[in-house]
Amino acid sequence: MFGEWEFAEVTPYLVAVLGLLVVWQYYQMQIMAGRIMAVDIFERSGVRMYIYVVPDDDAICPVCAGSNGRVFLPSQIAGKGFSPRYGQCQHPTPCPGMLIGLYGAWQEARGVVERARAQAKKNGVQLSQEELRALVNGQWEMSISAETDRLGVHMIEAACYEKINRAVSTTGYRYAVEEIKEVRHLLLLVPAYLRLALLLVRSGDNDEALALIERFETRFPTNKRGLHFPTAEQRNIMKLRKSHLLGSQPEKVPA
Ligand SMILES: [Zn+2]
Repeated sequence: MFGEWEFAEVTPYLVAVLGLLVVWQYYQMQIMAGRIMAVDIFERSGVRMYIYVVPDDDAICPVCAGSNGRVFLPSQIAGKGFSPRYGQCQHPTPCPGMLIGLYGAWQEARGVVERARAQAKKNGVQLSQEELRALVNGQWEMSISAETDRLGVHMIEAACYEKINRAVSTTGYRYAVEEIKEVRHLLLLVPAYLRLALLLVRSGDNDEALALIERFETRFPTNKRGLHFPTAEQRNIMKLRKSHLLGSQPEKVPA
């Protein structure tokens, strides 16, 4: 079903996911030698579907907002020229979009996996904001995938509650910042930091925002590189936010 793979066809998403799922050098050699296919790696990751989620925020461009909730099978992500969006992001600094992998063993998620499989060759499945909330409000904690999916569920929850319940979003992103350790989740770490810092600023929690930005700078030193590291633009956003916070803080008066 899947032909032999040409390395040049690898999409940026796939490169990122592969690089994080595995010891990249090893798999790169294996793939180039034609011994394994990308889709095998996805199958081994325990992910049955990926959901593209953007924060529920008016500042997101129409293309990214319009692509929110799209559901993909691992085999689709491995496909040539894959993009989770319907088109190019319209903002000079790309909107934060997250491709979240789930096993999805609870009832609502199983329904989505089935629909995505049935629709894979047709138009695909796209969940509305309400459907996304229904998904994460399902009994996921009771399911066999609770541990595998916990992080992903919190990230979806955080993204789709930004406008209607900031406390839920803050809790979700904070959970991600604290708990992301596994390589398969590393791509979600920078978006979690960025969104949490923004929400803290919006809530006037300047001290926590500042502490978070400093933690971000320590976590991602500028002299190190990694696929999951922030882009120059993302670093700049945090830098600007930090100088704004420092500027807006009252001067410290000695006791
Ligand atoms: Zn966009």
